[in-house]
Amino acid sequence: MLSARPVRGRFRRLRSVANAALIAVLFAIPWLRVNGQPLVLLDIPARRFHVFGLVIFPQELFFLWLLVAGLALSLFFFTALLGRLWCGWACPQTVFTDVFAGIARRIQGWKGTTPPRRVARWRVAATHAVWLALAWVVAFHLVAYFRSPYEIVAGLRAGLLDPTPMAFLGAVTALCYLDFAFVRQTFCKYLCPYARFQSVLFDRDTLVVAYDTARGEPRGKRGTTSGDCVDCGLCVAVCPTGIDIRRGLQLECVACTQCIDACDGVMQRIGRAPHLIGYRSLAGAEGRAARVLRPRIAIYAALLAGLVAVFVTLIARRLPMDLYVSHAGSALVAHAADGRTGNVFSVRITNRGLAPRSFHLALEDGDGLELVAGLNPIPVAGASSLQTDVFVLAAADSHPHSRELRFVLEPAEGGPRVVRSAHFLVTGGDENGN
Ligand code: SF4
Ligand code: SF4
Repeated sequence: MLSARPVRGRFRRLRSVANAALIAVLFAIPWLRVNGQPLVLLDIPARRFHVFGLVIFPQELFFLWLLVAGLALSLFFFTALLGRLWCGWACPQTVFTDVFAGIARRIQGWKGTTPPRRVARWRVAATHAVWLALAWVVAFHLVAYFRSPYEIVAGLRAGLLDPTPMAFLGAVTALCYLDFAFVRQTFCKYLCPYARFQSVLFDRDTLVVAYDTARGEPRGKRGTTSGDCVDCGLCVAVCPTGIDIRRGLQLECVACTQCIDACDGVMQRIGRAPHLIGYRSLAGAEGRAARVLRPRIAIYAALLAGLVAVFVTLIARRLPMDLYVSHAGSALVAHAADGRTGNVFSVRITNRGLAPRSFHLALEDGDGLELVAGLNPIPVAGASSLQTDVFVLAAADSHPHSRELRFVLEPAEGGPRVVRSAHFLVTGGDENGN
């Protein structure tokens, strides 16, 4: 059962604009490209994460942890300052539940704030058909954060999409449909972990949606009491979580502002001042000036600033490439056709930049040893790794011995170097080549 239709008001208008903007951003991001690379793509099979121009490889997962920690700290900071701003204005659960409810009201022809007594079957069927179609569109864009939307579309057109993304698309469509059409704000009330720990983040200066008890009470029919609340019950009727905000701050309140618009409308009709329900801090409701700067805000801000500083420093010191070297195959020592002793090494070169680039591989202090590679400089596509085998051969007239090698990789046009060690092995003889 949907709650009563939200009453027209300034917050409802603002929420419509915010919802449209957020959905546009959420849907646009997977399609956007920078230098031919996705703006955001969590490519798990390729073990590569594109995050706003930064390509994170498995060796650098700490960047992903820093981003997640930054988002969590930002949430703590803004929650302590502005309450459940995320829940009311940005959470996809709230945004899509709003959109799904709006579709139902429009198709089922709601005239006032409550549903019509009887809804024709075709209207109910049409509502579910549109809900299912929209759930598919939402699911497509969620899956597109893990698999390129261009690949999904091409696969769907050719009927050749792997079963895995197809299965995800089907499962996420079903989940979105059930969640936004039936579960709705019950998710916020009983399942959302953020709602559980928000009480730890709040204090008396946090901005929340609250009822002005001093002004509203004692409540009663107009003209029968001195309080401004006429006990019309509209704020309860429009509340998607079904609570009565007049009982004080409650865990179930998602700060959707629908009760503010409803009450402002009532106040306007009876010629009283608005904001009987409004954004205020509990300190403000008690007549005390609310403080913006307080210890917990300063701590969250300092932690956030520290995290940003670490992130920026790591990015500034990040090399444009990486190199991994290991012995290739099971035979550690090989002999070339001309009888020279050599080792085969497997090298993996990672180009962390978005543009294609060539890298020069060499040996540092490789006296008496020669590096043989199919191509050198070695071209590597943007945001990719390339694995290839190279040979290190001892010179014909030398007496090779086992020793440490230092592989040096640098961009063909010059720049910072990466040095990796490996062991050159020789069978027979001693370590001194005798
Ligand atoms: S109490 Fe008001 S702001 Fe809170 S969830 Fe209900 S309608 Fe939304
Ligand atoms: S909408 Fe306003 S006037 Fe009506 S019951 Fe709620 S607080 Fe009272």
